[in-house]
Amino acid sequence: MSLLQVEGLGKYYNQQTKVLKDINFEVESGEFISIIGPSGAGKSSLLRCINRMVDISEGHVVFDGEDVGSMKKSELRRLRTNIGMIFQHYNLVPRLTVIENVLHGRFGYKSTLQGVLGRFTEDEKEKAFELLGKLGIADHAYKRCDQLSGGQQQRVGICRALIQEPKLILCDEPIASLDPNSSKIIMDYLRKITNEMGITCLVNLHQVDVAKEYADRIIGLNKGEIVFDGPSNMLYEDR
Ligand code: ADP
Ligand code: ADP
Repeated sequence: MSLLQVEGLGKYYNQQTKVLKDINFEVESGEFISIIGPSGAGKSSLLRCINRMVDISEGHVVFDGEDVGSMKKSELRRLRTNIGMIFQHYNLVPRLTVIENVLHGRFGYKSTLQGVLGRFTEDEKEKAFELLGKLGIADHAYKRCDQLSGGQQQRVGICRALIQEPKLILCDEPIASLDPNSSKIIMDYLRKITNEMGITCLVNLHQVDVAKEYADRIIGLNKGEIVFDGPSNMLYEDR
């Protein structure tokens, strides 16, 4: 069984025009896929339907055998630990430290606010440090997130997703706010997550060249419809 099945997915906001129309694809465990398309194509909406940050208007999203569209609140919480999310603007809590941001990815925001680091066990902190080390930012663990560069903040975002031990990571334009050098670092790490940890990645990108360089498979979206789904080397720049 595939890790993710998207069947006849349709999405509209406020009963208005459909931003996703009859989307069908499957994702196998261990795939690294880039979703490409111009701004407004529906890439972000697609990822948000997969982890139910928005309601599904039509069709089905089946993750790990379960229908995401009919999940209740408690089931959604579990879904979101299995599906990590990485955002264009990092979505960190700026006034918390790096290590606190990573820990609250797994153990909750409130507990961080109440007791800060004291509330976490040594094991939990060790795990967070291990991830920060892997992403090359352990030295910044006690800095406030808003003192880091964009590329460093995105690495914190990756650690926060990874500490949940997700099966799937959804990345919504992870490099759109970064310079080419930081973009390369982030894309290299994302690729490593799939190659070395076996975690499936779906990465929204608007740069076709980056998608072709990193992804095994590309799904092209335009005006809410799939216009390409195949191996990266089958996608031509002039399409
Ligand atoms: P992309 O990520 O490819 O830029 P989006 O999924 O963000 O595409 O947007 C697809 C379309 O849906 C756009 O026309 C956008 O304006 C619209 N849209 C996105 N989010 C909302 C929302 N919360 N309410 C209404 N329309 C939205
Ligand atoms: P970014 O590209 O930085 O993620 P977007 O413009 O795609 O920013 O979306 C920012 C927020 O605005 C999102 O929460 C999205 O759902 C919402 N949004 C996008 N387009 C619309 C729209 N047409 N109407 C209402 N909300 C929208």
